[in-house]
Amino acid sequence: MLKGKVALITGASRGIGRAIALAMAAHGADVALIYAGNDKAASEVEQEAASFGIKARCYKCNVADYSATEALVAQITEDFGGIDILVNNAGITRDKLIMQMSEADYDDVLSVNLKGAYNMIKHTSRQFIKKRYGKIINITSVSGIMGNAGQANYSASKAGMIGLTKSVARELAGRGINCNAIAPGFIGTDMTDAMPESAREELIKNIPLKRIGEPEDIANLAVFLASDLANYITGEVIKVDGGLCM
Ligand code: NAP
Repeated sequence: MLKGKVALITGASRGIGRAIALAMAAHGADVALIYAGNDKAASEVEQEAASFGIKARCYKCNVADYSATEALVAQITEDFGGIDILVNNAGITRDKLIMQMSEADYDDVLSVNLKGAYNMIKHTSRQFIKKRYGKIINITSVSGIMGNAGQANYSASKAGMIGLTKSVARELAGRGINCNAIAPGFIGTDMTDAMPESAREELIKNIPLKRIGEPEDIANLAVFLASDLANYITGEVIKVDGGLCM
């Protein structure tokens, strides 16, 4: 489904980004894997992706850094001959109630989650416009739609991503570029593993499909949105949450 395409996935060393990278590789895309610091996990994903017979390479880069991401995109463009698919998945949490949330807690989350997506779109969109082709997929969250106590910074960043998605979709639609967002519900990854078992059981009670999602549940939709089967979909925010937020 993605043969001959080059996909750049941020936050690809673990969790949802890892699953997206492997699913895209399994569907024939070459993959550039961005991560923050976990060298071992990133090189394992690189090897696993390459086992599908495609080209895979990992790059350490902080997506919040404007000039570093500019250099990163230039390097990947040189290494792979261009980029067709951008997945803005890198994200962090610094959960605290607003009264305890420091300025750094707020700024760090907004910088990685929202400015990181802006940086990557900014640096890739020129080549998308030039070739009149590009698929941008932003990983937001149901927290950005519903809000969530203890996540004012995170919810703000994820709601911001929705506005970013819709504006970019409108700006670039005339150039044959699609920009969509996926809003996961509760997915089993390192980000959510810290939750106590009792809270987890309580949460599952509120999920109509009665289970926590798998990273692959998100990856399946990402592959579809990156493919030409989704050419007439843009500016959409699609929830993958077992019915949690309907
Ligand atoms: P995760 O398991 O914590 O993995 C985070 C990934 O992002 C890692 O690959 C990490 O790299 C990378 N990363 C973190 N900061 C970065 C930075 N500054 N620059 C570049 N890469 C960075 O997270 P996840 O649960 O898979 O979540 C992935 C995305 O889905 C996030 O945007 C998250 O907000 C969203 N989401 C998750 C859930 C959920 O339930 N899990 C629900 C809704 C939305 P290292 O390995 O090098 O640290």
